Amino acid sequence: MIRSAEGVVVVGAGWAGIAACFAASNAGIPAILLERTDRCLGTGLVGGIMRNNGRFTATEEAVAMGAGRLFAVADSSARHVGVDFPGHKHASLYDTTKVEALARRLLEEVGVKVMYETRVVNVLTEHRPTHAQRIVRSVVTERGEEIAGAAFVDATGSAGPQRNCQKYGRGCAMCVLRCASFGPRIGIVGKAGGLEVVATNSLGTKGSMSGSCKLLKGSLDPWVRQALDETGVVLVPIPSRFKLREEKLIKACQQYDLPEYYDNMVLLDTGEAKLMMSYFPLPKLRQIPGFENATYADPYAGGRGNSVRHMSIAFRDHAMRVDGFENLFCCGEKSGPLVGHTEGIVTGLLAGYNAASYILGRKPLVLPTSIAIGDFVRVTGDASRSEEGLRQRFTFSGSIYFERMKTLGLYTVDIKAIRRRVEEAGLMGVFTGGEDVEGKSGYYGENKVNRIGVPRRGSKIIG
Ligand SMILES: Cc1cc2nc3c(=O)[nH]c(=O)nc-3n(C[C@H](O)[C@H](O)[C@H](O)COP(=O)(O)OP(=O)(O)OC[C@H]3O[C@@H](n4cnc5c(N)ncnc54)[C@H](O)[C@@H]3O)c2cc1C
Repeated sequence: MIRSAEGVVVVGAGWAGIAACFAASNAGIPAILLERTDRCLGTGLVGGIMRNNGRFTATEEAVAMGAGRLFAVADSSARHVGVDFPGHKHASLYDTTKVEALARRLLEEVGVKVMYETRVVNVLTEHRPTHAQRIVRSVVTERGEEIAGAAFVDATGSAGPQRNCQKYGRGCAMCVLRCASFGPRIGIVGKAGGLEVVATNSLGTKGSMSGSCKLLKGSLDPWVRQALDETGVVLVPIPSRFKLREEKLIKACQQYDLPEYYDNMVLLDTGEAKLMMSYFPLPKLRQIPGFENATYADPYAGGRGNSVRHMSIAFRDHAMRVDGFENLFCCGEKSGPLVGHTEGIVTGLLAGYNAASYILGRKPLVLPTSIAIGDFVRVTGDASRSEEGLRQRFTFSGSIYFERMKTLGLYTVDIKAIRRRVEEAGLMGVFTGGEDVEGKSGYYGENKVNRIGVPRRGSKIIG
């Protein structure tokens, strides 16, 4: 048995789990991070889009609250910043080949003990007569180790496993989660006896399909590669006989549910070429000029399908505490029908902070709705409790929630105004104990030529 009796045990090293550890460690509580694969960042290994639309506001709020070092991982590995593409403004695109090393380094620097290839398969709970809610005592790994803790965070995400991708998708597409090698995702809330629900899609079936794949940049024609390197974005019209209809109805990313994404191949430069479609049949793809040798980097069977997500969402309160448990918190895709790295990070920060607060005997922190993150945490938590909410996907970057941000006046790219809001809420540096409030995230570091408000080169439209 490995004991961490005084600390927080976080399961799942995606963006949400990493953020939870960051906040717990900064609150002075030791954190252990358990990850079933051999890499951290989970689905963040194949994403990369940050700071688009309302994510900019949420990022700067979190930076003002002390999460600058965490966002610096993404910002400092950005290949392009201030990029516009259809429906999205001022995005930065991190390099998926560089970001993981920086995330690992940060975890080391803040003193998080990470155990890779450690899949949690069971959870031991108890009822104490003096406590109204159940208490999680320990988690058990596939190797049979029991890991005890004072508080726990379920950051296991909502993707797959293969059985779900077979049943609700187009089969296992061999994505970055590599279920066949490391074993299926297992949720901590469900194993502890808590309730988990499944989100639905526009077809009325369960889950939703991931909305982008990666093509090996080297497999594309030099003119496509060059355009990507120069501007970060390339649009190539899709011949009408090749357009897919079904993909639109089941995809996870409602923020890309715009005609431009069905009429064009939208490519973004995240180290490889991020193709903004759930999947696209290889024989058709190779008939499009520039793509004659196109090869999928993720998922390997991107010509066939993609991972199915939003398969397991927990009920929780606005402090990220799971219903029915005293010391179990959740974050990221586990905590609502939400999408995105930024969304994973901000919910993770709050879950980790409140797990630490529980151990320290502090009142849980509930963020006010005067800041976008506080509003988002409430809206997404409540959405899990209704059928209509579970049909939606919430993200700061588009669709229903970005519209809400604009209506409520929460969206702005004025960093001073954002910091003022956080200050007025008394939350400056809250995730670092009041230190590190300078807001340095690396976004304005050297080589980042495209800033908000600075004219930039336009995206390249080809064909
Ligand atoms: C192909 C693709 C592209 C995307 N592109 C973008 C993008 O460009 N920008 C953006 O903002 N968002 C993007 N997203 C969405 C974004 O990646 C997710 O919404 C977000 O990162 C979810 O983070 P998470 O930590 O909640 O879950 P995950 O990233 O799923 O992480 C969960 C982790 O838990 C681990 N785990 C699961 N079960 C166990 C267990 N029992 N024991 C131990 N470990 C376990 C998993 O191995 C995994 O590492 C993309 C998603 C996909 C799939």
